[in-house]
Amino acid sequence: MMLRLKNFEKGWIMSANAFANAQKQLELAAKILLAHTKNAQEKQKLTQKLETLKNPNRILDVMLPVTMDDGSIRIFHGFRVQYNNNLGPYKGGIRYHQDVTLDEVKALAFWMTIKCAVAQIPYGGGKGGVIVDPKELSERELERLSRAYARAIADNIGAYKDVPAPDVNTNAAIMEWMTDELRIMNDELRIKVKENELRATFTGKPLNKGGSEGREEATGKGGLFVLLAALVKLGSSGQGLGSSNKNLNARRYTLNAPLTVAVQGFGNVGFNMAKFLHEQGFKVVAVSDSKGGIYVPEGLNPELTLQCKQKNGPPAGGLVGCYCVGTVCDLKKGKTISNPELLELPVDILVPAALENQITARNAGRIGAKLILEMANGPITPDADAILFKRGIGVIPDVLANSGGVTVSYFEWYQNLKNLHWSKEQVNKKLKKYMDKAFDGVWKTREKYKTDMRTAAFLFALEKIIKKVS
Ligand code: GLU
Repeated sequence: MMLRLKNFEKGWIMSANAFANAQKQLELAAKILLAHTKNAQEKQKLTQKLETLKNPNRILDVMLPVTMDDGSIRIFHGFRVQYNNNLGPYKGGIRYHQDVTLDEVKALAFWMTIKCAVAQIPYGGGKGGVIVDPKELSERELERLSRAYARAIADNIGAYKDVPAPDVNTNAAIMEWMTDELRIMNDELRIKVKENELRATFTGKPLNKGGSEGREEATGKGGLFVLLAALVKLGSSGQGLGSSNKNLNARRYTLNAPLTVAVQGFGNVGFNMAKFLHEQGFKVVAVSDSKGGIYVPEGLNPELTLQCKQKNGPPAGGLVGCYCVGTVCDLKKGKTISNPELLELPVDILVPAALENQITARNAGRIGAKLILEMANGPITPDADAILFKRGIGVIPDVLANSGGVTVSYFEWYQNLKNLHWSKEQVNKKLKKYMDKAFDGVWKTREKYKTDMRTAAFLFALEKIIKKVS
C-alpha cells in the first residue's frame, strides 16, 4: 500500500508501508540466523519459532466516542497492538497522529519487541495509536479522548500485562488522565488493584504522580550515550560502520574540531537530542519541525531556538528566523530549508527524530552525512538501508539508538512496584550502564555475524526472544 506523499516539499515524507518494512528487516536477520544453523531439524524448528514473530499476538481495534466542546459527539478510531510478550509484559507508547494506520502501529509494536530485547529489559513489545490531529482539539477534548482510549483498552492492560507510555504527540499529562480513568473504572467495577500496581500500568507519568526523574529527556540522553559509544569504537578501530566514513572518529571530536549534526524533528526527542549534543560540544547546524527547518552553519543554540519558536508561535512562524547562535537570534546567521533538504545536508551526523520513512530509495543516494543516528522509529526503509550501506554511511538503528526512553520507563515501573524513588543522578547512571551494555551486545553481534548494525541488533534480540518459544 503506497500512501501519504503529501507535504513532500515541506513536511514529513511518508511513502511506504512501515509494517512491510519491519517484516523485511526481520527476514534479513532470519536469513542469517538460519544460515548459521546447520542441523536440518534445528533449522526447521528455528523457522517455526521465527514464524511466531511475523504477526502480533493481539490487535485491539477501538472506537472512541468523545463529546466535543460544542456538544457534538465525534468518534475517533484507535488501536492497541500487543505484538509479543515472550520476555515480559507488552510495552510501548501511544501515538496521536492524523496519519496513524493499523499497519504503522503493528510495525511500531514489533520494533518495541526488538528494542526491549536489545535494551535487556524484561518486556515484550506493544504500541497504541489514535487517528487524530491533537492540534485540532482543545485541552478538555484531548482529556476526554485520552480517558475514552484508556477505558477502551482497560481490560487488556496492567503492570504485568501491557504497560503503555508516551509516544509522538502524547505526554505525561495524558498518561496521568489515563491512569486516573483506570482508577475510576476499577472503583466502578469493584476491582481491587494496589495503587502502586495501578501506577505501574503507565510509564512516562508526571513526577508527582509516580513518574521517574529523567524520563522526559531519557530518549535523547540514551541516544547521546549510544552515539558516544559508537564514536569511541569508530575512533579506536579506525574504520566506520560502513566502509568509507573513515574520517569520522572520536579523535577528531576530542581534538576540538566539533562534528556537525543535523536533527530532523524538534519534539521531545529531537529537541533534547539537539540540546545534549550542543552541550557536549557538537555543532548542531540544522533542526526542523513538520513545517520545515532552519540551517545555521555557525551552529545553533537549541534552547534559545526553542524559546524563539515558542514565541513565534503557531500557525505562522515556528522555526523561521530562529537562527540563534550563542545568546542571540540573528536573521543574518541562517536560512530556512525544507525537510528533504535537511536530510541531504553535508554534515558528519544526521539524526532523524521525527517519523517513519524519511530516508527511502528516492533520497538515500543524496544523503550527505557520514553517520545516521536513528532517533525516530523506522525513519530509514530497507531499500534505503541497502543504498546507505553501499555508500559507506553508517546507521545506528532505532531499536538501539532510541531505547533510552523505554529503559527509563522500565526504571519508572520498577520504582512504582518497589515503592522507590531514584534521583536524577541515579537514573542517568543506570541509563548509561544499560545503554553501554546494549551497544556492546549489538557491537559484538555485528562482529560475530559480520553484518550491519541494524541486522546485528535484530540478531541480538531474536536470539533472546526465540529462546522463550518452547
Ligand atoms: N514511545 C517510546 C518508544 O518508541 C517509549 C516507549 C515506552 O517508554 O514504553 O520507544
